[in-house]
Amino acid sequence: MSTTLDPTRVTAPKIRQTGILIGDEFRPAVSGKTFKTYNPATEEVICEVAEGDSADVDLAVHAARAAFETGPWSRMDARDRGRLLNKLADLAELHLEELAALETLDNGKPINDSRAADLPLAIDCLRYYAGWADKIHGETIPVRGDYFCYTRREPIGVCGQIIPWNFPLLMVAWKWGPALATGNTIVMKPAEQTPLSCLRLAELALEAGFPPGVINVVPGYGPTAGAALVKHPQVDKIAFTGEGLTAKIIMREAADTLKRLTFELGGKSPNIVFADADLDAAAAGAEFGLFFNQGQCCCAGSRLFVEESVHDEFVERIVQRAQQRVLGNPFDTETNQGPQVDQAQFDKIMTYIKRGQAQGANCVTGGKRFGNLGYFVQPTVFTGVSDSMDIAREEIFGPVLSILKFKNADEVVKRANDTCYGLAAAVWTRDVKKAHQVAASVRAGTVWVNCYDVFDAAAPFGGFKMSGIGRELGAAGLANYTELKTVTMSMG
Ligand code: NDP
Repeated sequence: MSTTLDPTRVTAPKIRQTGILIGDEFRPAVSGKTFKTYNPATEEVICEVAEGDSADVDLAVHAARAAFETGPWSRMDARDRGRLLNKLADLAELHLEELAALETLDNGKPINDSRAADLPLAIDCLRYYAGWADKIHGETIPVRGDYFCYTRREPIGVCGQIIPWNFPLLMVAWKWGPALATGNTIVMKPAEQTPLSCLRLAELALEAGFPPGVINVVPGYGPTAGAALVKHPQVDKIAFTGEGLTAKIIMREAADTLKRLTFELGGKSPNIVFADADLDAAAAGAEFGLFFNQGQCCCAGSRLFVEESVHDEFVERIVQRAQQRVLGNPFDTETNQGPQVDQAQFDKIMTYIKRGQAQGANCVTGGKRFGNLGYFVQPTVFTGVSDSMDIAREEIFGPVLSILKFKNADEVVKRANDTCYGLAAAVWTRDVKKAHQVAASVRAGTVWVNCYDVFDAAAPFGGFKMSGIGRELGAAGLANYTELKTVTMSMG
């Protein structure tokens, strides 16, 4: 993929859509309100976006309901749904530069990452689920008696999808792909910090030919637009990615209507480096596993466990790597670390850094703001971290790495599992047996061996414990979007 920077095209993508998509129309909010979206690298306002609330959500849900019950979507052959998804993927690819630039502008992530990670992964995800559309079927079941029994996999209905700001477009693809392949309709609420790429992709979906009402997008705030979606009696399911505390609210609010719920939440993922590992590869993996996306990854390897005998040497490697990271204008192709997404996230991270220091950990590099404009945080590494410190227990969601020392496999597995989270883990070793033993013992939805953050649309992803409910991606991701129906017919 080309990384040649054309500043006229890349630094100033045209903002085409800032309205609420209901049916086939982008419109202002019923209230007439708007909210500002900011460039986190400059703290400047990019534009105003329509601020949806319960009135807009209600209209969007009705459009989605109508499309599900009576529109052309409800009668469309599965293979044609797949064709539409493929068409959307083609359009996203055609507009890759524009979408990547929008992502970098609104979120602050380096343009190289938008181009080489977010966009290709999102497009691949849409194509992967396009391929599933006509391969979702039930079974015939040999029951007792003179009956013909079979199952059907049917769409759930109207799906409310609430997504965060860390991978805005990729989260759209993870949610739309399986929901559309299985024949559902959607009302999506993007994160208030990053609505722009989602709105543009929604416009491309209309261009691809998705019938009106199949995809609706209501930008706005969580406690208003998000909450209205969760409470709406005509919404059958909520798929949510974000913070565990928000998921708890959603679970309570969804109880009255007994909605289907799937959650992809946070983590405090252990990254375990044994002394016999390829330490160069492990150091590169530890850097990437934590600092990628400014540390704003649910699966960030934020607890780096290093075996005692190589600890000091490994810390040196990590510190060197942290200090070599290039912070700055995210549109510069040399940059590999942009700003945090907003002031609130910046403040949260600085609070954790102060707490780490106060609780006795050694801040061996970083620890401060970078520059004086934008929400940049220096790549920060703590050593001498104990299991009970806040920086070892709570999700910081920033470029702050905690390094912990361990003596043997049994001990490190026990400590790795001593958390309410269970999203991801990694183990670095040349010993195959040890790798599999640790992979089997760590309570996490994904375990990487001698690699980190390797994602594929075909490989399920999701959390044990308080890191989530259900799995996204892969065939498992389809189960979140279908109801199983059993049909029994008398043959007598
Ligand atoms: P939230 O969980 O609040 O946000 C995620 C989405 O949920 C946003 O679209 C948000 O809207 C929406 N939302 C918020 N409140 C409600 C509600 N009551 N009902 C329905 N929807 C709601 O996360 P934050 O953005 O506040 O980030 C806080 C922390 O969460 C981070 O520091 C990080 O630790 C974690 N996080 C984890 C992510 C992950 O991938 N697992 C992703 C992002 C954050 P709004 O735009 O108004 O916030």
